[in-house]
Amino acid sequence: MRQFGLIGYPLSHSFSQGYFTEKFLHENEKGLQYTNFPIASINDFDDIWLKQANLQGLNVTIPYKKLVIPFLHHASSVVKKINACNCIRKYNNELYGYNTDVIGFEKSLAPFLQPHHTHALILGTGGAAVAVEWVLQKLNINYLLVSRTNADSSESGNAISYDALTTELLSQYTLIINTSPVGMYPDVDELPSLPYAAITAQHHLYDLIYNPAETLFMKKGLAQGATVQNGLNMLHIQAEESWRIWNTSTPPLENEN
Ligand code: NAP
Repeated sequence: MRQFGLIGYPLSHSFSQGYFTEKFLHENEKGLQYTNFPIASINDFDDIWLKQANLQGLNVTIPYKKLVIPFLHHASSVVKKINACNCIRKYNNELYGYNTDVIGFEKSLAPFLQPHHTHALILGTGGAAVAVEWVLQKLNINYLLVSRTNADSSESGNAISYDALTTELLSQYTLIINTSPVGMYPDVDELPSLPYAAITAQHHLYDLIYNPAETLFMKKGLAQGATVQNGLNMLHIQAEESWRIWNTSTPPLENEN
């Protein structure tokens, strides 16, 4: 039996267990199991590996993407750079850490990107925002972080407050990515504080939220003629990328996220 799983806390609304259980069933993959490990403290991390002899890989979610890094024997260059790990593989009794949110975001955004999307706004400055920042840097897209709390004090020094979002600014920043939980179930009547009248058909609004499938942020964008997408495709891509990493014959860290 090969076991995989997810650590985080709480895990009641997690997507991964359902996804992998369905995948194993659908692809007729026998002897595989995906288990939730809702640990209240990262100090319980070592215990999971000790108790589960067949555990070969873990996904990592809130609040442990950063806290898990000191437990790794090896970390990919992206994990080291953005300080966030959401996928671990055990190989020869050592733990290798990766970040598959990065590839999930990059690949899911690609079909919507237009040449005029040269400037982006990232709403929120949490764990998902660092993966988005990494991809935008790679794609040479200029960006500003938009924050309730960290304006002018972000690590990259380019965070602004929501008050600074003027019509003029939005006319240049045509890619808007919501990495905040605002609008997520059950708070589906909430939306990030933007001057929505300034959104045009040139804009692309990407909401990392996937429940509900169409957030109020996306609805407002659609009403203005913008293109929109939710976070479901990103979620699927990052899960499949974890599966690929867990199944490579060796755990190469070069060229890996
Ligand atoms: P997080 O670390 O908690 O950060 C979210 C950030 O959003 C916070 O740092 C905060 O930034 C801002 N924020 C929080 N509450 C807010 C509020 N009430 N109003 C305005 N801004 C608020 O969470 P995360 O891990 O980055 O995840 C954020 C969202 O992305 C969640 O909805 C999550 O489900 C989604 N996500 C989706 C995927 C996917 O695959 N689709 C992957 C990862 C995450 P400031 O304090 O700077 O404002």
